[in-house]
Amino acid sequence: MEKKIFSAERIGADEALAMEGMGLFALARAANERMLRLDSSGEVGYIVNRMINYSNICKAQCKFCAYHAKAGRVAPFRMSDDEIFALCADAVGRGGVQIMLQGGLHRDFTLPWAENLIRRVKTAFPKLWLHAFSPSEIVWFAREENISVEKCLERLQNAGMDSVPGAADLLVPEIRRELCGNKCTVEEWTGVMRALRKLGMYSSATMTFGMGESFRDRIEHLDVVRRVQDETGVFKAFIAWPVSPENTQIEGKVDRVGAPEFLKMLSIARIYLDNIKYIQSGWLTEGLKVAEIALGFGANDVGGVLMDEMVVRAAGIDNRATPSNMRRVILNAGKTPRERGGLYETIKIFNREEA
Ligand code: SF4
Repeated sequence: MEKKIFSAERIGADEALAMEGMGLFALARAANERMLRLDSSGEVGYIVNRMINYSNICKAQCKFCAYHAKAGRVAPFRMSDDEIFALCADAVGRGGVQIMLQGGLHRDFTLPWAENLIRRVKTAFPKLWLHAFSPSEIVWFAREENISVEKCLERLQNAGMDSVPGAADLLVPEIRRELCGNKCTVEEWTGVMRALRKLGMYSSATMTFGMGESFRDRIEHLDVVRRVQDETGVFKAFIAWPVSPENTQIEGKVDRVGAPEFLKMLSIARIYLDNIKYIQSGWLTEGLKVAEIALGFGANDVGGVLMDEMVVRAAGIDNRATPSNMRRVILNAGKTPRERGGLYETIKIFNREEA
């Protein structure tokens, strides 16, 4: 199998399953080889962005989520449009180039509301990249409005939405039924991705793992992502992170995935997803030190600074980053920092002195 990887051949699902037994350093070597075939620049990207979690009132009540109001960790709240707008303005003032907007599934949040909000923000800040609303929120808006997902996305695009975060959790039907049965199904998620691409928009593929799934389930997830990417080319990047079970319904039922397991899955994802250029190193749940190490395991992007992220913090994980932290992590890994935009385009390359 290593021979296949080093000669740039695609590996099959059975071969990916066999990688479970590979040593970490062998995986790192193979993942880096794969990464270099897709990106030999030696640069690692980051984006200055703000995550606005506009509400935690959510009907989905996923068992692995500590953020929704019923989990009891964060009191129910809903930001007003003025509050959201003020956070966008503040982010722009602090050099932010992207806003991520994600909340809960609730009848207060409708497509007309989302259109109005996006139009208002985009009119004031036309260059701000709006990476907004997870596939479950999109499916929710479409259902409430009684229109197709494609029509819903088209209306959001016309209002100014630029791209959609992946928010895939695990794309395995049995796992979704058990842990997040009120979110979109695997078919609905892939349907959002196909519709996005038809409209010329992009997304990211994500993977949340460590919820009690098998290793085979994880490979099944990667396989769904790879097939959708073969068909559409919709994913700019892949991002994996272990679930934080603290304060959720799965606390005590699963062991928290540690850094070695995270690095193993990251490497295997890098090897398997030979059609996605950027793999992020997941600092939010794992911290900046592990993110730095992950840059030796095939990752070539450290993601966003994510000012104000709340979902992971609700589980008691409080990692924070600034643009200068990001550049330091990248330099420490022997790479060149590259500030980027929402389409992974370069904004600025930093040398050691500037960083
Ligand atoms: S993970 Fe998202 S959809 Fe699920 S309960 Fe939490 S906020 Fe709602």
